[in-house]
Parts: sequence; structure tokens; C-alpha cells
Amino acid sequence: MLPEDDPEPTFAEYLPGKIDYWSADAPVAPRYFPYNRCGVWECSSCGRLYLRYTEGGGYFVDRRIRVLRASLIEDVPLAA
Ligand SMILES: [Zn+2]
Repeated sequence: MLPEDDPEPTFAEYLPGKIDYWSADAPVAPRYFPYNRCGVWECSSCGRLYLRYTEGGGYFVDRRIRVLRASLIEDVPLAA
């Protein structure tokens, strides 16, 4: 989901209202963190798609996975 015109994906998150990123109903905005650094994977046993945060290297490890629900995807433009 990396946008090809943005070599350094933003760490800004798109979380309107009182939603936090652990919320089951948080929107999936592909241009925003962490979705701009996620890969889409398919479960080998049930075939469901999920997002997996890909660690870019460095000192901390932050593994997050999330089931991908198409209804939550919002292609929100980045704020200027
Ligand atoms: Zn599965």
C-alpha cells in the first residue's frame, strides 16, 4: 500500500472523532500511518486478508496486524 510518489511515508494518523487506532471501526486510510507501511497478507488457513505492519528497521519493534475489512477503507488525501 505504499504510494509510489512518497518516498518517506508520513507518521500522521487519520483518526477522525474519538476513534483511536485500536478501535475495531477505525478507518483504514492507505496514505496514513500505519497503513502506508503495511503489507496485505492472506491467511493460509482461512483465506481472510489482513494488514501487517512492516517494521522498517531500527530499535523498536512494533508488530501490528489487523483484519482487512473493505468497508473501512477510506482513501483520504494527505493534509498539505
Ligand atoms: Zn485465518
